[in-house]
Amino acid sequence: MATTKTGRTFFALGTINTIQAFGKDSERAADAAVDRVLQIHGRMSAFLKGSDIFYLNAAAGIKAVQVHPDTMSLLLLAAKYARITKGAFDITLHPLSLLWSVGKRGDFIPSKGHIKKALGLTGIKDLIINPEDSSARLSRPGQSVDLGGIAKGYAGDEVKRILLKHGIQNALVNLGGNIVALGANPKEKPWRVGIQNPLRTRGESLMTLSIKNRSLVTSGMGERFFLKDGRFFHHILDPKTGTPAQNGLLSVTVASPSGADADALATALFVLGPEKGLPLLSKIFQGFPDEARPEVLFIKEDQSVPATPNLSHPAFKLTEEL
Ligand code: ADP
Ligand code: MG
Repeated sequence: MATTKTGRTFFALGTINTIQAFGKDSERAADAAVDRVLQIHGRMSAFLKGSDIFYLNAAAGIKAVQVHPDTMSLLLLAAKYARITKGAFDITLHPLSLLWSVGKRGDFIPSKGHIKKALGLTGIKDLIINPEDSSARLSRPGQSVDLGGIAKGYAGDEVKRILLKHGIQNALVNLGGNIVALGANPKEKPWRVGIQNPLRTRGESLMTLSIKNRSLVTSGMGERFFLKDGRFFHHILDPKTGTPAQNGLLSVTVASPSGADADALATALFVLGPEKGLPLLSKIFQGFPDEARPEVLFIKEDQSVPATPNLSHPAFKLTEEL
């Protein structure tokens, strides 16, 4: 029996998104999923006048603002990731992201003075979240948050939920590199997803992974980096230094049942690097069953690929080597 296939490509969350869904109700399911991503964008974008995050930032040092439960849950998750990654994941780095604007200003490197000033405006303890009345506030004027390191993963989880609600069992979703693989491909095999060579803007997979009912998130790829004096400057910032994280890493890929977890972890692990990141990861997920434990693969500039030992788990199988 031929399956109905529906495809959608659209711009949201600062990136290009695609949804491929298979099944009887796939048209309606895909439309509902696109609407949901646009709604999340409308609530979470730091750059969109009228979004919760826009108002939170505009009211920094002045007052608390009311946020939608979606935004509240993501702020709480972001705060949790700040805590468990020992500050490597920090959504209050936004003043620094604006200063560096990697990917938007060529190979611009800000002055030490400007970095110090922007760094002074960061600090997750200054983000005060009150779930009781669904409000949040930033303590000091000039502070701001941005959910760019976690929102696409959360949106991927929501797309998955909506597709499942519509009875879709097989789908492949890509929200700017945050991939959700549901069920199997039309050949009834696990979806195969290429991990792109981080030094190429498109195409050229370094390896292919088979994934089933997992989200696969890669940080540190695409066009958002520049190379100057033999050093890579990514748009992922180290909260300790206020400069792009530099661990000799090109990219970090995380596979996890939760896309929001995978997204936050990929960003944090890019900051931490494999030496600090892998031990921290096993500590955080100690005692978790295999299927709930994220799998991670780092690609380093020296071509080595440190990874979690469990890459042989059926949910995340390495099918080709470098
Ligand atoms: P991408 O947006 O390319 O998928 P990430 O998920 O790693 O990549 O998110 C990077 C974005 O997150 C940056 O553009 C910036 O907005 C924000 N960011 C940068 N550094 C950090 C950090 N250490 N913690 C949390 N968010 C960060
Ligand atoms: Mg991320």
